[in-house]
Amino acid sequence: MNKSDTSGLRPSTIAVAAGRPVPDPGAPLNVGIGLSATFHAGTEANYLRQGGSDLTRAFETALGELEGGRALGFGSGMAAIAAVMEGLPSGSTIVAPRSVYSGTSMLLDEQIRLGRAQVRRVDISDTASVLAALRQQPAPALLWVETPTNPMFEVADLPILVEVAHAVGALVAVDSTWNSPVVLRPLKYGADIVMHSATKYLAGHSDVLMGALVVADDDVWAQLKARRDLAGAVPGALETYLTLRGMRTLSVRMDRAQANAAELAVRLNAHPGVERVLFPGLPDDPGHERVTRLHDGYGAMISFLVRGDGAAADAVCERVSLITHATSLGGVESLIERRARYAVDAANGAPANLLRFSVGIEHVEDLWDDLVQALEG
Ligand SMILES: *Cc1c(COP(=O)(O)O)cnc(C)c1O
Repeated sequence: MNKSDTSGLRPSTIAVAAGRPVPDPGAPLNVGIGLSATFHAGTEANYLRQGGSDLTRAFETALGELEGGRALGFGSGMAAIAAVMEGLPSGSTIVAPRSVYSGTSMLLDEQIRLGRAQVRRVDISDTASVLAALRQQPAPALLWVETPTNPMFEVADLPILVEVAHAVGALVAVDSTWNSPVVLRPLKYGADIVMHSATKYLAGHSDVLMGALVVADDDVWAQLKARRDLAGAVPGALETYLTLRGMRTLSVRMDRAQANAAELAVRLNAHPGVERVLFPGLPDDPGHERVTRLHDGYGAMISFLVRGDGAAADAVCERVSLITHATSLGGVESLIERRARYAVDAANGAPANLLRFSVGIEHVEDLWDDLVQALEG
């Protein structure tokens, strides 16, 4: 594997250049899908479950260089989250957002039910209450952050949260799936762990389930690698190949999707069928100042509240035709869904009439035409 020197390069370039094979004459430009569970003896990682393939290492090199840390590939985003949470000593306290990805919320509840952890749920945008939860006894072992949160768009003031979490001895992990590394690199604000559902923007084509962690400290990295390898939560070869391939176009996909989202947020905000738009790119959005200060873009996710009740929002999902009514996000195609149809999101405060909209890379006018006909019935 070529330890390509990408230092000093910008994320859009790193996404293209990092994790390539050694450029020997006649050598391929890409690491292929090597199908082998075991490898000739003589190296440290000589079994696939130990992350022993060139392809896994190429993916981890590319993502690590993008985020500015050391990466680990996982079989899914949930496997990556579980490695962090289930690696904590029994009885640990976790501080986590009230509005958070549904799978994370259910995993936290499961930790409580099994008597493995105590959890303090907070509004991650309310800095004073997060700091109070961090300073409460017993001292927490982990601050889990989503920013913006899913699907309520609460934005964390990451640097101050990291400072206080570290002062009380807690690790900080950021689920940065919604941002991708071209929009936010949490390690530069002192976070210890970045988590990605690579299923979303990194792979980018809704055809892969994969996850990743990127870690600042070598000891924490080694602990998480041990968790991954012991739990057998490694990604498969095809998934790793597709994700690394998807990452080559991450920057152009994000540029287009973000431009579409920014335009559609403004138009939705002015549409009489829409009660409210949650999108940090809007100047009067509560998260606008923090995202402007800390991120390199406003992302390509939008939540909006349809005027009316849950049934009115469901009707919009039934009427869209170009936009797909489906869960998930981060692919080239636009997806929409009503989050309160999930009991866990409703319990965490998602309004009945909230639609979460993953904006894709289609032409913005085609997306707008579809939204208008769906809103106006
Ligand atoms: C999808 C998602 C996950 C879970 O990832 P999987 O790859 O589906 O296991 C975690 N966090 C966020 C924000 C997500 O969108």
